[in-house]
Amino acid sequence: MGLDDIKRRIAAAEQAAGRSPGSVTLIAVSKVQPAERVEAVLATGHCVFGENYVQEAQEKWPGWRDRFPSVSVHMIGPLQSNKTRAAVALFDAIHTLDRMTLARKLAQQIDEQGRRPQLFVQVNTGDEPQKAGILADELPGFLRSCTELGLSPEGLMCIPPEGADPVPHFRLLRRLAQDHGLPGLSMGMSADFETAIAEGATHVRVGSAIFGARTYA
Ligand SMILES: *Cc1c(COP(=O)(O)O)cnc(C)c1O
Repeated sequence: MGLDDIKRRIAAAEQAAGRSPGSVTLIAVSKVQPAERVEAVLATGHCVFGENYVQEAQEKWPGWRDRFPSVSVHMIGPLQSNKTRAAVALFDAIHTLDRMTLARKLAQQIDEQGRRPQLFVQVNTGDEPQKAGILADELPGFLRSCTELGLSPEGLMCIPPEGADPVPHFRLLRRLAQDHGLPGLSMGMSADFETAIAEGATHVRVGSAIFGARTYA
């Protein structure tokens, strides 16, 4: 299994960056992976997982939570507004707060359910028209509106453009988080998590390097 290797590489990257051991949270991205691969990782005691689809997570996680009560499940995929109720009920963190309509629905559900998932605002650091996320220029206004709604995002998240050097994107995200006093930085995937740690990531989202390649049905 890739988990031990990834944990070693994270520890080495923390040390190389002069960061304290354990300062980076590894989110094991288990979307569309066969149950036995996820169970093998659960059996090691690892307890932070990432999912992309509300319905898939609803089918998988309630049963595993009963057996592994310390598990936390992070939503890292695009969240449709009509799935907000289910998302607030299910997830411990949502990394993809990316628009006002979603912020309003989340605020409403958080009030109604009395559950407060940790929130990250997704930033479209590459200004890509097809990609979700708040543009850097619009972030101050968006964060002000979140505050008015009673939401307190704890960090920022980005997915750098495909094929681009991720470093400028990680740096931009870090600077934006610093400007707004946000401690969390969700950045880095299988291909670039060590680079992300060097640039200050607090949460890395690693899927295929732990579980193997995903096969979509
Ligand atoms: C699937 C996914 C990941 C994990 O990707 P790998 O390349 O398999 O590590 C990380 N972040 C997001 C937002 C994803 O959708």
